[in-house]
Amino acid sequence: METLAILGATGSIGQSTLAVVRQHPERFSLFALSAHSNVTRMVTDCLEFSPRYAVMVDALAAKQLRHELAQLNSATEVLSGSEALCEVAREPEVTTVMAAIVGAAGLLSTLAAVKAGKRVLLANKEALVMSGELFIDAVHRYGAELLPIDSEHNAIFQCLPSSLQQNPGRGSLSEAGVSKILLTGSGGPFRYTPINELSAVTPAQAIAHPNWTMGPKISVDSATMMNKGLEYIEARWLFNADAAQLQVLVHPQSVVHSMVQYSDGSVLAQLGQPDMMTPIAHALAYPARIASGVAPLDFCTLGDLSFMAPDMARYPCLQLAIDACASGQGATTALNAANEIAVAAFLAGELNFMAIAEVNEAVVQTLGASSVSTIDEIIALDNQARLCATAQIRKH
Ligand code: NAD
Ligand code: MG
Repeated sequence: METLAILGATGSIGQSTLAVVRQHPERFSLFALSAHSNVTRMVTDCLEFSPRYAVMVDALAAKQLRHELAQLNSATEVLSGSEALCEVAREPEVTTVMAAIVGAAGLLSTLAAVKAGKRVLLANKEALVMSGELFIDAVHRYGAELLPIDSEHNAIFQCLPSSLQQNPGRGSLSEAGVSKILLTGSGGPFRYTPINELSAVTPAQAIAHPNWTMGPKISVDSATMMNKGLEYIEARWLFNADAAQLQVLVHPQSVVHSMVQYSDGSVLAQLGQPDMMTPIAHALAYPARIASGVAPLDFCTLGDLSFMAPDMARYPCLQLAIDACASGQGATTALNAANEIAVAAFLAGELNFMAIAEVNEAVVQTLGASSVSTIDEIIALDNQARLCATAQIRKH
């Protein structure tokens, strides 16, 4: 029996995780669920899964949840505040932590799970983008097990030999005969929109992803392909890959979730429906296989699969991320923070779509050369980059 803490339980990944867990009550029990402030969703999930703890980061929402659960005679105890996220992630009883909070807000709780030596199911890519080397060092120092949930990284993981699977961020791709990791991405909803029309697209259009249903931030990141840029940095750390070993491909159908090319000419790919329950079920049960609830692929009705190089004029955020990855941790931390602020401003109708890249670029130019070697320095740079991005947005 695995005992789980799901951080970010009310989000898209959190809900897909519960949908897999629901199918295997004999395998998984829930120790804790967490959310920022969605009381309604949390009440429903606490009644169904009876976790020991429900963490509500927002204090007012925690109070309301405590009141509603008491009235419904639920035994779940409500904790409040972001430190409680770290506490439940560290609990000795917990074997597996799903890190599915969106953005930098998930960094400390994800690291707490790593430092407690848990099996960490990593959806929160921003945590790894911000803290790369420190994160991987902690995985090894504290004996954590790291399993990627991001569909591309989960696909790559599945296509790598077990020697590399067991050695996150430290193995040698070339010694294992890997010549390239081929990171696929759909290109988002504006793949075919004329570039001169992109400034006028609305948040509703940007969130309507053609293949995947996801939270608002990652949906906008998919439209700018910043998501693929963050994933490029994520792959650099998870698989110890250098620039020559990483290639991004646009693959509109989102059926091939990524591939690994070997020196003998073989290419291994992982294919499936675009449904996060597949990588979640893979990581929950690894190395066993369990049903995820995802429909099988039907190759007779699949149609064509196509691949192309990304057009960097359409996706300037992707190029920014690749360049930031080459410059180092200061640049990737500043870029990630700027992007969170710029995307929030776009979603609030305060910034046009193409200006997201302009804000990101200006922040990286200002702060990208900063050197960061501790978590405190990373958090300080993250804060500074947020202020810098906010100042840039005011100029637009
Ligand atoms: P979402 O917006 O649907 O959910 C985010 C979750 O985080 C919610 O439970 C929310 O309550 C919680 N949260 C938000 N702000 C918080 C804060 N300040 N403190 C504590 N909790 C907070 O997001 P999502 O789409 O589920 O994405 C979650 C993570 O998984 C992201 O890092 C994303 O990049 C990654 N991811 C998502 C998908 C997907 O298909 N949705 C795929 C790959 C990777
Ligand atoms: Mg992904």
